[in-house]
Amino acid sequence: MANSEIPTEQWAQVVEKTGGPAVYKKIPVQKPGPDEVLINVKFSGVCHTDLHAMMGDWPLDVKLPLVGGHEGAGVVVAKGELVKDIELGDHAGIKWLNGSCLACSFCMQADEPLCSHALLSGYTVDGSFQQYAIAKAAHVARIPKELDLEAVAPVLCAGITVYKGLKESGARPGQWVAIVGAGGGLGNMAIQYAKAMGLNVVAIDGGAEKGEACKALGSQAYVDFTATSDLVADVKAATPEGLGPHAVLLLAVQEKPFQQATEYVRSRGSVICIGLPAKAYLKAPVFDTVVRMITIKGSYVGNRQDTQEAIDFYARGLIKAPFKTIGLSQLQDVYEMMHENKIVGRYVVDTSK
Ligand SMILES: [Zn+2]
Ligand SMILES: [Zn+2]
Repeated sequence: MANSEIPTEQWAQVVEKTGGPAVYKKIPVQKPGPDEVLINVKFSGVCHTDLHAMMGDWPLDVKLPLVGGHEGAGVVVAKGELVKDIELGDHAGIKWLNGSCLACSFCMQADEPLCSHALLSGYTVDGSFQQYAIAKAAHVARIPKELDLEAVAPVLCAGITVYKGLKESGARPGQWVAIVGAGGGLGNMAIQYAKAMGLNVVAIDGGAEKGEACKALGSQAYVDFTATSDLVADVKAATPEGLGPHAVLLLAVQEKPFQQATEYVRSRGSVICIGLPAKAYLKAPVFDTVVRMITIKGSYVGNRQDTQEAIDFYARGLIKAPFKTIGLSQLQDVYEMMHENKIVGRYVVDTSK
């Protein structure tokens, strides 16, 4: 089944060698397999992971040549013969988890991101920095038609990832969460989800501009790591009785904040690692971890249910994280800003430009 208006060629950003750059060029449009859909991507968010993929930063092989991108929102224009629960014309999203086996013990227990056969958009398979992208129908995000595809794109990775992290933290309504890297794309989303889930937020990042953005999004306190002489004391002082936050969400892409989090988290609290600084290690004092009963855990991307819940928060008008839109042809400029850590909020690329 296919729409006759699908072209044979399309514009895409292609990484041809590790280290980049991404090259804007025409490539063929692929046909979906029996259990896949072809999505005409209208907008795609740009995630730090896309830069890591291009630079070969992680101990996991990247497909080359590679079309990056895993926050693609668009319209289903073709589908395989086995796909029954999604129709041509439906709105759908390409997310990080492009597909999984659906049969292993992880998939059976809704931990499909842990599947050893998982396909990763813009990493092990081509992603959303192209006008027509393929994904397994079972895994594409279902996007209600009334939602703006441009604004919902960043929910597909940033939104799902931080929402999953907040769920994994076990923090309950009324409790406090510190968000490290709160001024970035993930952080802006995390503040919004935390607030929507009834949590109080201490935002941590660098610079006054990021502080203003965090407060505008609803964080109760902001700790500027470039201005404080004692970050641990400042974070604790921002929470009731100075006991520290019940949970810490680590979205930073530097290693140092990972070491500090166990010092200011509240006893019985949890430290949730989400950001992936290249070649970083976690170090925590065993004594404190034991006698203060601190939980340290990793949180990866969400499963299919987390995805739909994250989109539902957005659909209810509770998530309005800022973004800037530029043409797909200018993607390399975004990578350069990311490299210099100059981005406030999220960039979205428009695949028609
Ligand atoms: Zn991402
Ligand atoms: Zn599996």
